[in-house]
Parts: sequence; structure tokens; C-alpha cells
Amino acid sequence: MQSDAATTPISRIIWDLTYACPLRCVHCYSESGRRPARTLDRADMLRVVDTIVGCHPERISFAGGEPLLVRWWDEAARILTSHGIPVTVFVSGWLMNETLAGKLADSVTAVTVSVDGPDAATHDAVRGRRGSFARAMRALDQLDRVKRERGRADGPCFELGMDYTMTRTGQRDLGDFVERVSSRFGSLDYIRIGAAMPVGLAQEERFVRDELLDDRELDRLLASGPGLQRRARNEVEVTVEDVRCFLPSSEMSGETATIAQIEPDGALRAFAIYEAKVGNVLEEPIAELWQRALAWRQDPFVLAQTGSVTSLSEWARATRQLDRRYGSAADRARIARRGNAGAATD
Ligand code: SF4
Repeated sequence: MQSDAATTPISRIIWDLTYACPLRCVHCYSESGRRPARTLDRADMLRVVDTIVGCHPERISFAGGEPLLVRWWDEAARILTSHGIPVTVFVSGWLMNETLAGKLADSVTAVTVSVDGPDAATHDAVRGRRGSFARAMRALDQLDRVKRERGRADGPCFELGMDYTMTRTGQRDLGDFVERVSSRFGSLDYIRIGAAMPVGLAQEERFVRDELLDDRELDRLLASGPGLQRRARNEVEVTVEDVRCFLPSSEMSGETATIAQIEPDGALRAFAIYEAKVGNVLEEPIAELWQRALAWRQDPFVLAQTGSVTSLSEWARATRQLDRRYGSAADRARIARRGNAGAATD
């Protein structure tokens, strides 16, 4: 986790707008739905947006939790895009309706719907709520329809994508799935398939044992890329990502070093994905917090945990150490309660 504190800019921002979520995914990086939402009111949202505009990131992602639960998500998106900052929204599809699909078309650059299984049984098991696959498909139908309508009227609209977080459970029937969804949703632009990273709930030993892909499975996933692309219809781009390039000790992890992650209440993480916080952008200038974040990455304990990581399971161990040491008291209490996450609910 090397960085140069004097020169490393913020290239991209992930803003988790809320930790509220109707789903209970077994791999959730933010453990949403199982911690306080900490959503800002509109006045503080405007202050955070001002700060982000001042950073001039190349792009911003609205994540969570479920961003569409937040009353002001579209206002924040419109302000950011009006300043030339592209906004991608990551959604589960659970809440989607025609009105929200239209608002997304009016306000954001890209919408990505998360789908983690080729069928309802698999997806719902990973996402922890029955009916979530049906809702994700219905959301894609609605977004696809809005995008086609806007296209016919020569109006601007979002890029439409699907994110597939690969667990062991979700490994089967991918070719058929790619062919089916790319045929059904004609305006889909991309399908991104990436293995679950060992952060958040996916760092825990049970997940690592049962669901985290090992090197052989990762190799097989990578090798499947060209075949999956051949199965795609309507010029949908299919990418398969080797998350090993983001291992903390890898050279590519430098790319992630320029990503700033803001928690719902404005807290800035020391490094995207870990629970360590360096302050709040509502209370201190982000430039100062960013220097603190870069310094955190040179902390001897941090370097000792991350320096020799060569596999996802070792990365999981490092994440467990870092989150338990640097998380807030509330984070550490929540982490200590883990164990029942992921049970399917009606
Ligand atoms: S991964 Fe699942 S539980 Fe976590 S925020 Fe996304 S939809 Fe919600």
C-alpha cells in the first residue's frame, strides 16, 4: 500500500449515501441494513456535495446501502453532473419503479444493477432476501424501457450495467445467464463480473471458507471471459475482473490508493474498503483529511498487515486485523456481533 502523500490526488470518490438497505447480502462490504443508516439531512448533503465539487474527482459512485432510499439522491446527482462530474449509482433493484427510473435518466451518468446469481434461488441466497432476483430483473426491465424511450427521442440517458459479484455459490451457468440477460435487456451496455473481495462481511472466516474464490477458481473465472463475451447479444460488453490485481501488496493497488470513500455521515475512510476513519468532511477540510489518510497507509502496523499479502484469504486476514484495530468503538462492537448475517427473510 505505497503512496506519496505530497502528490497523490483524489481521482474518484465512493460515497455511501446510507447504510440502510432492504437486502442482507452475505458478502456485503458495508454490512448495510445491520448498522445505523447515518444518512445526512439535505443541508449537510449540500455541504458534502460542495466539498466533492471542490475536489474535482474524475467520477463519483453513489453506493451504500441502497442509495435510492435517500430522499435527496437525485438532487445531489444533478448538482455533481452539472459540474462535469459523472455519477454512477449502484442499486439492488429492490425499490425500482417507473418514477425512479425516469429520475435516474434525468440525473445520473450510469446505473449499475447488482445481480449475483443466474437464477432466483442462487441470487436470493447470496442477497439474503427472497424475491430480490425478481425485483432486480423487473428493475432492469424498467431501466431498459426508459433508456430505449429516451433513445428514440434522441434524449440523453444513463449507461446501463450489471455487476455480478462472484461467490462460490454464484459460479454456475454463467454463459446461459449472459446470453439470456443480454438478449432480454437490449439497451444493456455492460456486464461486469468480479470475484467478491474479502472486505466487510466477506472478510470473515466462514465466508472465506465457503464462498471466497481460491486461486484455481479465480483462474477459471478469468479464462471464461472470452467465452462469456461470445455468448453476449446486442453488443453488450462483458468483462471479467481478476480482483487479485487489487491485493494490497500488488502494484495495481496503487490505483485504488487514489479512491476516497466517504461514509454516509461525511466520515472519510483512511482507505476505501477498511473501517478506519480519519475525520469528517463536515468538520475539517478534506485536503487535511486526505493527507491523514495517506499517512495512515504508512503506519507500521498497516504495512505489516498488508505488505506480504499474496492471496484473497491472506487479504481477508489482513482486513480482519485492520478493521478490528482501527474501526470505531461502534464498528468493533458490530463486528463482534457478526455471525447471523445472510439469513434469508421474506
Ligand atoms: S451488498 Fe447487499 S446488503 Fe450490502 S448494500 Fe448492497 S444490496 Fe445492501
